[in-house]
Amino acid sequence: MCGIVGYVGPKSTTEVLLGGLRRLEYRGYDSAGISVVDTAGVLNTRKKAGKLDNLVAELAEHPISEAHIGIGHTRWATHGAPTDQNAHPHLGGVQHRLALIHNGIIENFAELKAELLANGAKFESETDTEVAAHLVAAEFERTGDLVAAFTKVVNRLHGAFTILVIDQDQPDVILAARRNAPLVIGLGEGENFLGSDVAAFVEHTKRAISVGQDEIVVLRAGSVQILGFDGSEKHGEEFTVDWDASAASKGGWPSFMAKEIADQPQAVADTLMGRLDSHGKVRLPELDAVGAHANGAISKVVIVACGTAAYAGEIARYAIEKWARLSVAVELAHEFRYRDPVIDAGTLVIAISQSGETMDTLMATRYAKEHGAKVLAVCNTQGATLARESDAVLYTHAGPEVA
Ligand code: GLU
Repeated sequence: MCGIVGYVGPKSTTEVLLGGLRRLEYRGYDSAGISVVDTAGVLNTRKKAGKLDNLVAELAEHPISEAHIGIGHTRWATHGAPTDQNAHPHLGGVQHRLALIHNGIIENFAELKAELLANGAKFESETDTEVAAHLVAAEFERTGDLVAAFTKVVNRLHGAFTILVIDQDQPDVILAARRNAPLVIGLGEGENFLGSDVAAFVEHTKRAISVGQDEIVVLRAGSVQILGFDGSEKHGEEFTVDWDASAASKGGWPSFMAKEIADQPQAVADTLMGRLDSHGKVRLPELDAVGAHANGAISKVVIVACGTAAYAGEIARYAIEKWARLSVAVELAHEFRYRDPVIDAGTLVIAISQSGETMDTLMATRYAKEHGAKVLAVCNTQGATLARESDAVLYTHAGPEVA
C-alpha cells in the first residue's frame, strides 16, 4: 500500500503531483503514474514501472499540457507484476474517459472481473484495481451521476482501498473513498489536496482533515464534501500539521526502522486479508500446487531462509508442527546446499525471503528442486526471482521494506 496524491487548483498540477509523490517515496514503491484533465478537457495519463525518475523522463519525452486537476500514484504491486501496464492510473469508459488509482487490495476482484468480462469489458492489466475503473465508468455512463456511480461501486468492493477518480466529463472534481487504508485531505485557499498522508501536501498547506473509515470525499478547488458510503453527510475534524516538510521523508518517524516496527500490525492484517473465510478459517489455495492439501503427499517440511527470515521460520516451525503434525527443520540457506541434506519428493521446502532475491535462499531452492522436493516461496515482492522459480508462492502484503 503505497502513495496517493490528488490536486485541484490553479497551480501546475503535474508539478504538484510529482512533488507529492516524491514526498511519499519514503513509503517505497515499484511504479508510478499520474492522470490529469488538461485545460482543453482531455484526460492525459503517463505511467512507468521503476523509480519516479522514469516517470519524470517519460513526461519530458511526452509532456502533458497545462492542467488544474489530477491524481498521482506510487504502486507496490500486490496483483500483477511491476510493469508499465500494471502501473496506475487505470482507465475506464468510452474512449478511456475516466482514470482511477488505488492503494490496497480488492479482495473480491475475481468475481467482479468475471461479471465485467461477461459484459464485454476489455482488461489491459493484471491488477485487482482495474475492475473498479470499469465498474465506475459503466455505472456513470448508465446514470450520468458520477458521485452516485462512485458510491454504488465502492459499496461493492471488499478489502482495503483508498481510491481516487477523475473523469474528463466532470473536470472540476476528484472523488475519493477509503476503507481500511489511509486518506487525508489538505485544505488550501482556492485549491485542495488529497494524500495517503500529510507528507503529500505539507509543503503547500498545514491544514488537514483525516478521512474516516468508509467515507467518500467530493473535492473541488473551492469546496470539500464528505459523505458516508450510505450517502449521508459527514463532518471531518480539521487539524494542523505540526511538523514540516523535512520530517516527511520517513512519514514523521525518526527512522525507517521505527516506522516499520509501527507498521507491523497493519502489515499482518494486510497479509491475512482475503485469506480468512467467513468462519475465520485460513484459506491458502496457493498450497494446492505443492500438494499440501493432498493427504500424505508431504512427509516433512524444511524451511530455508537467511537472517531474520530464518527466525520467522522458527516461529513457522512451532505452528506447522502443532497444527499439521509434520516434522519441520529450519535450515540456514547458506549452509543447506553444502551438506548432503536428505530431501525427496515427499519433502516440502519452504523458502522465505522478503525481497525474493536473497541469493543463498535462491540457490537452496534450486538445489531442493533438483533433488525432487516441492518448493513453496514466502515472499513480499511480486514477480521476484524466488517467486518465479518456486512451485507455489504465498505473497505477504506487507508493503515495501526499507529498513
Ligand atoms: N492492488 C493494487 C495493485 O496491485 C494496488 C497496490 C498498491 O497498494 O499500490 O496494483
